[in-house]
Amino acid sequence: MGSGPTGYSAALYAARAELQPVVLTGMQLGGQAALTYTIENYPGFPDGVGGAQLGELFQKQAEHFGAVTEFSSAHSVDLSQRPFKVKSDDEDYLADTLIVGTGASPTHLNISGEVELTGRGVSYCATCDGWFFKDKKVVVVGGGDSALEEALFITRYASSVTIIHRREEFRASPILQHRAREHPKVDFILNTIVTEIVGTDKLEALKLKNVKTGDETIYEADGLFIFIGHIPNTQIFKDQLEMSDLGYIKVNDKMETNVPGVFAAGEAADPHFRQVVTSAGMGAAAAIQATRFLEAESE
Ligand SMILES: Cc1cc2nc3c(=O)[nH]c(=O)nc-3n(C[C@H](O)[C@H](O)[C@H](O)COP(=O)(O)OP(=O)(O)OC[C@H]3O[C@@H](n4cnc5c(N)ncnc54)[C@H](O)[C@@H]3O)c2cc1C
Repeated sequence: MGSGPTGYSAALYAARAELQPVVLTGMQLGGQAALTYTIENYPGFPDGVGGAQLGELFQKQAEHFGAVTEFSSAHSVDLSQRPFKVKSDDEDYLADTLIVGTGASPTHLNISGEVELTGRGVSYCATCDGWFFKDKKVVVVGGGDSALEEALFITRYASSVTIIHRREEFRASPILQHRAREHPKVDFILNTIVTEIVGTDKLEALKLKNVKTGDETIYEADGLFIFIGHIPNTQIFKDQLEMSDLGYIKVNDKMETNVPGVFAAGEAADPHFRQVVTSAGMGAAAAIQATRFLEAESE
């Protein structure tokens, strides 16, 4: 399940093991990676590769070995017995094993301009996109560890990083707060929310509102990084697969879930690394383990 790096990498391995994998794409063909203009940290592409292009290459390679792509989303699963049942909008699938690669979605601000300017100044991944903001003016939204960590990371490139937070206090650990406050490139705008992202082809400015005074201002910026959390796309497995409090599917080091024959990999199960290369690696591992699982059954 899933057509991101996890899903197609798992499908490639499963197809080469002649397991006849079917990939359910979900709503986002290519996964989150397809949202970004260029990926420069996936090995094998010294000049970088378009996010959507990399997704197409993953798909082509898996299909070359026999994986079948189905353009649909699963809306429910029954993992109580095998074969597992996966219901999509237009069809029901039966599967001897299931690999969950449904990824995660960054929490959005849900404000005007956000969708249109994602990849054009608006980003959810500093490791991925920080480099594009060399000597630029960047805003980071959020008040947790990841917001401050990522803000500090972006200082390597940006000329300035302004952290906008809706409260006075930060959830982030004191050491990160200290580092951010001491950093000469970092400043803060507190008790403030972003209400609109302004720009036509690229981000040009942000509309801000002070939540205490109600004052509204326009703030010019080249980049906006939003770090207000991630939501794993795992709701349909609730009460069937064990999950963390945050909804990440619990797996062991073989990508096995609590249900024998069901594996989970990539961002659906990984709150830590969240990269194309790590997700693809976990997808491959899940498919290798699924192959072993089926082989053991037929012995
Ligand atoms: C803007 C942006 C830029 C990024 N840039 C980089 C970068 O430069 N380098 C890097 O390494 N990482 C980057 N990342 C992170 C990287 O994209 C993710 O770590 C990676 O895509 C996770 O892979 P995944 O397959 O586990 O999940 P996703 O990529 O999230 O894919 C999940 C897939 O599951 C499908 N799905 C969801 N629900 C269902 C369902 N019910 N039924 C069927 N299918 C379903 C979706 O349609 C999607 O195809 C970036 C992320 C973003 C958002």
